[in-house]
Amino acid sequence: MKISLAKHAGYCYGVQRALKLALEATVSSTKPIHTLGPIIHNPQVVESLKKQGVNAVNSVDEVNSGTVIIRTHGVDPKIIKKVKNRGLGLIDATCPFVAKAQQRAADLVKEGYNVVIIGERNHPEVAGLLAYANNQAIVVESAKELENVEVMGKTGVVVQTTQSLENLESILDTLLFKTKDLKVYNTICNATSQRQEAAAELSKQVDLMLVVGGKNSANTTRLTQICTKNNKETYHIETADEVNELWLDGIGHIGITAGASTPDWIVKEVIDRLETLAGGS
Ligand code: SF4
Repeated sequence: MKISLAKHAGYCYGVQRALKLALEATVSSTKPIHTLGPIIHNPQVVESLKKQGVNAVNSVDEVNSGTVIIRTHGVDPKIIKKVKNRGLGLIDATCPFVAKAQQRAADLVKEGYNVVIIGERNHPEVAGLLAYANNQAIVVESAKELENVEVMGKTGVVVQTTQSLENLESILDTLLFKTKDLKVYNTICNATSQRQEAAAELSKQVDLMLVVGGKNSANTTRLTQICTKNNKETYHIETADEVNELWLDGIGHIGITAGASTPDWIVKEVIDRLETLAGGS
C-alpha cells in the first residue's frame, strides 16, 4: 500500500504563532491563562494545552484575573477593550491575515461601500469581520442566497480567510449581475489556498483520501468537501482510531491531507495506524 501526504498540509503560520504565544505565556506568567473559545479547532491540542494551564472560556465575564488570549480568528474590538478595562493581561494572537481582512472590512465601510462578507454566518472569524464593518455588512455563504437580492449599488467584498476560491468565484459571478460598482478584496489566506490546491490535486490521484483534523474546524471541513468532489472515497477523521479497516479493502494508494490546525503528531499516528493495518507494507 502506498501512502502519499499532500504537498501542503497541517499547521499554518497563524496557528503556530498562536500556540507559541500561548506556550510562552505559560512559562512567563504565574497567573491563570485563558483563551476566548478553544485556541484552535482541534480538541486534542486544546486538551493538551489545558494540562499546561491554558483554559478555554466562553466570555471575558468568566475571567477575574490573569491573561486572556485572543485566538487566530480575531474578535470584535469591543471585546479587546473589555479585557483591558477589567485590568486583565491581553495576548492578541489574531492571525495577521485575519487582521488584514478586518482592516479591509473597516476601510470599505469608511469608503461608503455596502459590505458583503463571504463566509460562514456562525463562524467566530466572521463575527469579528462583521464588527469591523460596524455590523453593517451582509454575510453570504453561497451564491444561492443572493438569488432574491435586489440591485445592490456600490458593493465591497471581503472573504473569510478559509473560504474556497470556488465559492468566492461562484458568489462573485452572481454579484456581477447585482451591481456595476464592485470592489473585491480576496482575503483568502495563502495557507488555505495552498492546502486546498494540494488536497484537490492529490485526491484525484489516489484510491482513498483521508482528511485529518478537528470536526469543528472550518478549513478541515472545506478540505473534505474539495476532496469529496474529486474522490467519493474521502473520509474526515480527527484521530488515528477513526480509521476503519474496512475502508482499506482493495485500496492501493491512500492520500492524506490535514487542516491548518492539525498537529504533525496526529498525522503521524494516522500513518502509523495505516501501516499497521497494511501489515507494514
Ligand atoms: S488558516 Fe490562514 S488565516 Fe487562518 S490562522 Fe492559518 S494562516 Fe492565519
